[in-house]
Amino acid sequence: MSKPAFSFEFFPAKSEVGHEKLLGTYDELNKLAPGYFSVTYGAGGSTRSRTLKIVKELCARGTTPVAPHISCIGDDKHEVAELLELYKSLGIDRLVALRGDLPSGQVGMGQLPFALDLVKFIREHSGDHFHIEVAAYPEMHPQAKSFLFDIENLVNKYKAGANAAITQFFYNADSYLYLRDALEQRGIDMDTQPLVAGIMPITNSSNLMRFADSCGADIPRYIRKQLADFGDDRTAIREFGFEVVHRLCERLISEGVPAMHFYSMNKVNPNKRLVESLGLVPELLV
Ligand code: FAD
Repeated sequence: MSKPAFSFEFFPAKSEVGHEKLLGTYDELNKLAPGYFSVTYGAGGSTRSRTLKIVKELCARGTTPVAPHISCIGDDKHEVAELLELYKSLGIDRLVALRGDLPSGQVGMGQLPFALDLVKFIREHSGDHFHIEVAAYPEMHPQAKSFLFDIENLVNKYKAGANAAITQFFYNADSYLYLRDALEQRGIDMDTQPLVAGIMPITNSSNLMRFADSCGADIPRYIRKQLADFGDDRTAIREFGFEVVHRLCERLISEGVPAMHFYSMNKVNPNKRLVESLGLVPELLV
């Protein structure tokens, strides 16, 4: 069975110290030969300069492709077009295209209210220059009108030109498999337009609960209860988290998942440990 491809996601650091640390994290994770690194972007341009800074530095630092995230909510078309041109000038040819969430206090959805509009706009503006990945929700986006509406929205993003979709994190392998089957039933060819599994390593209980609440990801009871029992015991959380996520990844690999995108949280160890123990690193490098 062929091993899935893998990639890592970073978020731009807020401080100079954090930025330097992130460059070190990049160097370590880059040794594992990931397919690409993605960098998040705050909707409404809230991290614009920080995202651009780290994207430029990563492009200059190595040859591994960098995929900036780009959001559309609250933006005008000319702002998005400007960013696309800038990325092209940096030699970037892949993007993660999202709607984003408006920063609190900001109103107005802008000229491109949904990710579907953004995918269409990128294709109109830049043709096939960019490999576009969009977001997918195995457990439904929290604001979706219904589960089926959300699936249709994803189908429409694929049909508008998305090359692949990356899922929100999940710990129920069946939710991923259900979504994959639902997409196939709706005519999406998973070989040419794959569904990439978004994997969140577990290292910190309270942060995980907060993320899960905000994005509508389900933390199964057997995980929640054990994390609660561990309290502040970080070693126990780390070891349990590793076991749970490793099992999830193994199941996904056995089900033929084409690729895994690790929400790295800008950390080396939990990601490196998972990728190595799953045997994803090319043999020449081991
Ligand atoms: P969409 O696909 O537009 O969907 C958003 C919601 O609108 C869904 O509920 C959908 O069902 C609904 N919808 C779609 N069309 C319509 C319509 N016509 N009428 C009514 N409802 C509709 N956020 C960031 O700010 N920056 C990032 O860098 C970032 N990276 C991410 C990476 C990944 C892999 C994932 C999974 C999420 C990421 N997010 C990021 C979070 C994402 O921006 C939010 O989940 C956001 O709320 C939705 O974005 P989307 O692209 O899925 O939007």
